[in-house]
Amino acid sequence: MESNATRVCEILLGLPAVNILGVEDVQDESLRIHIECTEHTSTCRECGSQVHIKERPVVELVDLPAFGRPVRLIWHKRRWECSISTCPVKTWTEDNPRIASSRLSMTDRSGRWITEQIGRYARSVNEVAHELGCDWHTINSAVIAYGTVLVDEDTCRIGVVSALGLDETLFFRLGEWHTLQWATCLVDVEAGTLLDLVEGRTAKAPSTWLKQRAASWKQQIRYGTMDLSGPYKSVFDTELSHVIQVADPFHVIKHANSKLDECRRRVQNATLEHRGRKADPLYRCRRLLTKAKERLDDKGREKLLGLLKAGDPDGEVATAWQAKEAVRALYVHTDAKLALEWVETLGKELQGKEKPIEVRSLGRTLIRWRKQIAAWHESQVTNGPTESMNNLVKRVKRGAFGFTNFVNFRIRSLLYAGRPNWSLLKTLTPR
Ligand SMILES: [Zn+2]
Repeated sequence: MESNATRVCEILLGLPAVNILGVEDVQDESLRIHIECTEHTSTCRECGSQVHIKERPVVELVDLPAFGRPVRLIWHKRRWECSISTCPVKTWTEDNPRIASSRLSMTDRSGRWITEQIGRYARSVNEVAHELGCDWHTINSAVIAYGTVLVDEDTCRIGVVSALGLDETLFFRLGEWHTLQWATCLVDVEAGTLLDLVEGRTAKAPSTWLKQRAASWKQQIRYGTMDLSGPYKSVFDTELSHVIQVADPFHVIKHANSKLDECRRRVQNATLEHRGRKADPLYRCRRLLTKAKERLDDKGREKLLGLLKAGDPDGEVATAWQAKEAVRALYVHTDAKLALEWVETLGKELQGKEKPIEVRSLGRTLIRWRKQIAAWHESQVTNGPTESMNNLVKRVKRGAFGFTNFVNFRIRSLLYAGRPNWSLLKTLTPR
């Protein structure tokens, strides 16, 4: 009867070759399951002589929850000592990677489980830590240990890419000052997959990354998408000179909106001699201004016109608003042949002497980037970079808080947005 009950416990525990020494049930706390290995050595791994147990060190491991309660596995290990006093090995502690990696304070099965929960299903570290009844760091180090090896050894993760996107993203560094750090996402724009993440937002790191790729892989890239920034343009100019450069519409429209905003603030200061306050007409319409025209209902449109009439005596903000809408309209057309002509015409028009200074600056930007802006009309046959790129960056950013360093941020982002082959996780050894 006794042995039958023990067998039931072993089946429930589901670990290979262990004896259950006992189960502690502390109310409102974890279940504590004491185990030892059934298989063990009796000879020295170095000289083959007899060994004896020197000590029984106890290791406490976080395990998967059972019956709705957190579980601790209390592993009573054996510390061996060689009987030959001159043997170089002297003592060692037994180890079993099938139970737990010697460097992690959790069982192997829970390490794999939490890596998938956090990496693949984007659960938060805190949430999983709560479920397993342990702290943030225990969970995070396991995700990094298993995640790093999954990301590195999945050699098929980066396949053929026909549109490569470069985009900057911010993350917080956990630490005394919670400093902001920039990183660059390298994105398979068509698949909406994060290929990699490199430090900073200069040309240096993405260039280095591209230098390490095979020439045949680079040759298959047809489009390079980016914001209106010099560094990323220079990456494409030097490392992928054959690709058609495409300015991401999202960033082009964002730039038009920021020029509109600049204009609104300047007119606000010039007319009222103070920065925007709650009751000021231009301050009150700041949201309506950046909203897409077709998304304003009659009431919104009326309100916007009224506020502009009150706060924009020379019609400068209204002009900047029209300029922004004209930039948005560039993307309504789909005629690739006429696209360049449209961008050039609009860019020149916006530089008219009578235009507000911000609108003229927008016009110059359109002319400087005209080829990249117009190229979207050709590349959009690939379903447009905008949507997938921005959704992806949003997803990465949502998980980007509280990272202790860039390495952790990179691994967590790649696990989530890099679509690794999760079936490999079963067979990999954590690092
Ligand atoms: Zn020995």
